[in-house]
This record gives sequence, C-alpha cells and structure tokens, in this order.
Amino acid sequence: MSDRKADLEALRDELKARLERYRAHRERAAGALDKDIEDQSLETRDDEVVASLEAEAEEELGRVRHALARIREGRGEYCERCGEVIDAGRLAAVPHATLCRDCCDG
Ligand SMILES: [Zn+2]
Repeated sequence: MSDRKADLEALRDELKARLERYRAHRERAAGALDKDIEDQSLETRDDEVVASLEAEAEEELGRVRHALARIREGRGEYCERCGEVIDAGRLAAVPHATLCRDCCDG
C-alpha cells in the first residue's frame, strides 16, 4: 500500500493554502482602487493572471477531493470508467488520477 492518500491530503492542504493566498490578493487589489490609472491597468492584468491561477487551483482541488473520496470508498485504485486497476506508476506520477491511462486518453 502506498502513501498516496497522505500525498493527496498534503496536496489538498497545499491547494487550499494557495487559494487562500489568491483570495487575499484579490482583497488587497479591491482595497487599492485609489491608485493612479497606470498602476490600475497593471493591477488588472495581474488580477487576471491570479484569477486564472485560482480557477486552475480550484479545479485541481476538486480532482484531489474526488480522488480522496474514491480512496475512502475503497475504489481509489480502480478506473472510474472501465473498472480496471490503474497502474501504480500512473498513480505515483498523477496521485489524483481516477481514470486509467487508456480511459484518460480517450
Ligand atoms: Zn479505464
């Protein structure tokens, strides 16, 4: 048995911490509206980057939580689509995988 669950829990906590930082950034940006126009346009570009990073982290967190739920159900090592065992190398490389390599490509 691997420590995949522990890895996923660590990843989940890291993603949650990252999302907290993005939210803090957004609140800071919202409080910085009295800057001059040039600064504001820089802030806006920066905010767009943060917003897309935030969306990515949200999505990854969703996948991690989903994989953890599958592990709790005792189905963590099985492909969600075809029911085959997901190979250990893939799970080591992609701890949040819930599809086998074949199904993932399809
Ligand atoms: Zn499959």
